[in-house]
Amino acid sequence: MNKIPVAILGSTGVVGQKMIAMLSDHPHFYVAEIVASDKNLNKSYGEVSTWFERTKIPSSVFQMRFKSTSEITSPYALSALPSEVAAEIEPNLASKGIHVISNASTFRMNKYVPLLIPEINPSHLEIVAQQKTTGKMVTNPNCSTVFLAMAIFPLYATYKIKHITAVTLQAISGAGYPGLPSLDILGDCIPNILGEEEKIQNEVKKILGSTSLPATFTTTVNVNRIPVKHGHTVIANVHFTENISKQEIEKLFITYAEKFPQAYQLHFDNFSPRPTRDLTDFDNRTHIGRIRVSEDPRQISLVAMGHNLVRGAAGAAILNLELFHKYLGK
Ligand code: NAP
Repeated sequence: MNKIPVAILGSTGVVGQKMIAMLSDHPHFYVAEIVASDKNLNKSYGEVSTWFERTKIPSSVFQMRFKSTSEITSPYALSALPSEVAAEIEPNLASKGIHVISNASTFRMNKYVPLLIPEINPSHLEIVAQQKTTGKMVTNPNCSTVFLAMAIFPLYATYKIKHITAVTLQAISGAGYPGLPSLDILGDCIPNILGEEEKIQNEVKKILGSTSLPATFTTTVNVNRIPVKHGHTVIANVHFTENISKQEIEKLFITYAEKFPQAYQLHFDNFSPRPTRDLTDFDNRTHIGRIRVSEDPRQISLVAMGHNLVRGAAGAAILNLELFHKYLGK
């Protein structure tokens, strides 16, 4: 079978690198074109890349020269651009008939652009029909939203949720390359990441809602940056309208983990999940643990954790590419 060419935008960044590494042995797609900022135009990837991945730069990409976005001919572009740069480049590519699968936050809340998690809301892809361009745009969520949404998905499908309180502990690589100055982050916990709390609040409701209406629960979100290299942890308290038991919640997650074995990893001991110990380099799973009922029997708390560069970014975009390609082939 002939593989389908894909362009990577923001290819030198930590998300772009993860995309290149994850696509290196993909059965249906291959990296055919790379784009970064203009300073790298016509240079080769091997020449300029500060490669972070444990696997080597694929030889085909090592030799590849950077193109400008106007030179792209691939039918799909995976975007790992900064949001302000995506604002101009992504719609421009779509107007030229190139489908854009984006990590950037710019268009996530646009009502004509689906914000996709394949296991949760594949039907939201229908929205692309309302985009006027021949190329279509789809987005994946913020790197903490995805783990919160995956944790809430079984609960929202089964019970009535009134309110969710979420506290995040986010890794340094979530801030892109080169991350934060070591003097700022080492040995510390930095409260707040500008704009992140609003993104999580809005995005989780769009994903779990219908194509026209957001989910109905309310949220309180607090984000923090911590000195972990990769892996975002989300501690969520979920308030239901009725009493709930630990056994029924655990049973529910077991059912969903059986239905989506690539998507969930459940932990039943009291000291998991842990980013450095439990995540693998290409880990697309949401790790769920520490399910407990609180003093108020209508509330539970749990921990959701996952790889911000994989399921929180590159892996999510590739899953959306696969879903979108299948959708177009119908
Ligand atoms: P990053 O490490 O800072 O990489 C940014 C990339 O964008 C680099 O390849 C850079 O190329 C390129 N770029 C910058 N300005 C450009 C321009 N004017 N034209 C073309 N390319 C340009 O950032 P990142 O962490 O990979 O994040 C990429 C995107 O994904 C962001 O929108 C981010 O919010 C989102 N995201 C990140 C994560 C995460 O965990 N890091 C998770 C979810 C979503 P040069 O090397 O040439 O400057």
